[in-house]
Amino acid sequence: MEQTISFCKNTLKKHGFRITPQRITIFCCLVNSEDHPSAEMVYHQVKREFPNISFDTVNRTLHCLTEKGLIKMVESGPGPRRFDAHLKKHYHFRCCNCKKIVDFDCKEYDNIKIPDDIVKKFKVFRQDIVLEGLCSDCISKIKAKNVFRAE
Ligand SMILES: [Zn+2]
Ligand SMILES: [Zn+2]
Repeated sequence: MEQTISFCKNTLKKHGFRITPQRITIFCCLVNSEDHPSAEMVYHQVKREFPNISFDTVNRTLHCLTEKGLIKMVESGPGPRRFDAHLKKHYHFRCCNCKKIVDFDCKEYDNIKIPDDIVKKFKVFRQDIVLEGLCSDCISKIKAKNVFRAE
């Protein structure tokens, strides 16, 4: 945790942020999280430490961090925007039922080429691959329900 805090502090400093305990906590919350939280989720967590912080402050900080490239917005489909502090190349699986977003790596996906006609016409900044479906928890829940119904 100490390590994360000093990492967050240094990264914020390097990117010209004014260091406040709230900012460090918001950024740390993202860095420590595996579940791609929404602004709302970050707000609820940060509020435990700073009961007076407003949702607006959290939301604004998240957008500033995104603008400076410290975190990324995740293609989260309909619903609130979700954020990710893991900047290393990786892909997402999104559960349509519980909205969980899970990271995965895939060598084959790393090598997908952008079509030539797109490269000629546009400047591509980002290429994302998102898989959608049901996570294992939701599959077992649905299975359990079906068994129950059949009785
Ligand atoms: Zn699920
Ligand atoms: Zn991710």
